[in-house]
Amino acid sequence: MEEVYRDLIEIVGADYVSREPEELFMYSRDPGTMAPCRPDLVVLPGSTEEVREIVKLAGRHRVPVVPLGGGLVLSGITRPLKGGIVLDMKRMNRVLEVNELSRYAVVEAGTSQGMLQAHLKKHHPGLKHSIPDAPPIATIGGNVLIHGSGHLSAEGGFHSEMLNGLEAVLPTGELVRTGSCSASPYWFSRAPLPDLSGLFIGWHGTTGVVTKLGIKLYPDRPLSDVLIFVTDEPEIVPEVIHRLSGTQMAEDLLAMMAPKPPWMRGFQMVSVNYAAETKRELTLKRDLFRESVKKFIDQKIGGFMPLPDDMKGRFLEAPQSSLAVFADVNKGGGFEYVGAIMPIELLAAAYQRRVEIAERRGVTYSLGARVIGLGHCMMFFYAYAFNRADEEDVKRAQAALEDTNRAALELGGIPWKAELPAQKEIIKKLDPAAFRLMNRLRELLDPQKIMNPGNWEA
Ligand SMILES: Cc1cc2nc3c(=O)[nH]c(=O)nc-3n(C[C@H](O)[C@H](O)[C@H](O)COP(=O)(O)OP(=O)(O)OC[C@H]3O[C@@H](n4cnc5c(N)ncnc54)[C@H](O)[C@@H]3O)c2cc1C
Repeated sequence: MEEVYRDLIEIVGADYVSREPEELFMYSRDPGTMAPCRPDLVVLPGSTEEVREIVKLAGRHRVPVVPLGGGLVLSGITRPLKGGIVLDMKRMNRVLEVNELSRYAVVEAGTSQGMLQAHLKKHHPGLKHSIPDAPPIATIGGNVLIHGSGHLSAEGGFHSEMLNGLEAVLPTGELVRTGSCSASPYWFSRAPLPDLSGLFIGWHGTTGVVTKLGIKLYPDRPLSDVLIFVTDEPEIVPEVIHRLSGTQMAEDLLAMMAPKPPWMRGFQMVSVNYAAETKRELTLKRDLFRESVKKFIDQKIGGFMPLPDDMKGRFLEAPQSSLAVFADVNKGGGFEYVGAIMPIELLAAAYQRRVEIAERRGVTYSLGARVIGLGHCMMFFYAYAFNRADEEDVKRAQAALEDTNRAALELGGIPWKAELPAQKEIIKKLDPAAFRLMNRLRELLDPQKIMNPGNWEA
């Protein structure tokens, strides 16, 4: 490690390598429940060339490399399970190109959500990207590569579906481009070539280090509004979502169920965020949303809730701050959620299982679901807040998360950005041929087994 340390200083300069205990302490954990794992070294590259040199050095010494963006994934998949180097991408944060006409941006992987949002507001005010509700320091790379979702997901699907192509350093140090940018100066789409971008999405940093991404942008319309549909009959919610999303006019659709304040208990809400160029278009859209669920309003089993302006403002902000406020409700900064990707027809059953688990485990919870695409599926989130300084509280949350992951799999969903125990549960259910193929691809890409080892292993 002494030699690796010295060589890393040669590559990036002494300011960007650390083995100081207080820094290693910070890089050994995330805000979730998983136990810390201490890295040997932390390095912050400033260019693709530096990333290549670092990965080649790690390969020569067979030292693990764990790519890190904002470190906010919560499920502990950026903890260096087998020690080695944490490769923090935050210095690689430039917006390289914005193509206004073809609506895409090319960014370095460590560009944060907040940076791209601010850049577009200032230099390209007619365009926006889809923003997750994570704190703004979360990176574009970290989010796209885990199949994140955000405030334009009803329009454009998972953030990985908004990816047009990428540049990556393979575990051998070779540089590769995928998507249209591999054969053209334009980063316009993943079609029509074989889709190699998939080799880096959902792999938890086990197949390479992504250095650049091309992502889709969307119109930033001047007017926006939100509607909240409320019902106390959970079984109608999937059809409500189906009908609202079928209008193809929502930017974001969220189902929410809150245990607090007490009067909210039992009510299910669906928020519909939409935007328009003119007042006439906004009114037309509102009327069509109402029309789509008229049947339930006529039957008096649901309806739209009047919203005061300050509440509307909160629903319209991106990222929405309510989840971040909930994240610290128990104080002590502990927060984690199971995001289960599942079809919308499982919403009522997922809600029921969730309430049972929370009551059995006695944990503070919040839950809801973000609709992906036109109701093609949802990311159902079961969120738990806990005090990290209170061991018992951490254990309670951990047990609830494990129960929840198992329940999601039993129902027919798949845990998203899964913690280590949940990865193993998924592998048990996975088609053995698919798992064999994953392993063969990994052996091919990473013959030295240096990339984020320990993840996606049986
Ligand atoms: C309050 C709160 C709300 C949230 N809301 C949302 C939400 O609405 N939608 C959502 O999608 N998420 C949400 N999240 C979860 C998470 O914070 C985000 O998904 C975040 O964008 C992850 O990005 P990151 O940069 O922190 O990734 P990291 O945690 O740094 O990394 C995630 C994974 O990607 C890998 N990785 C990172 N960078 C690279 C790279 N350059 N090359 C290869 N692999 C890489 C890492 O090894 C790791 O496996 C929320 C989190 C919090 C705390």
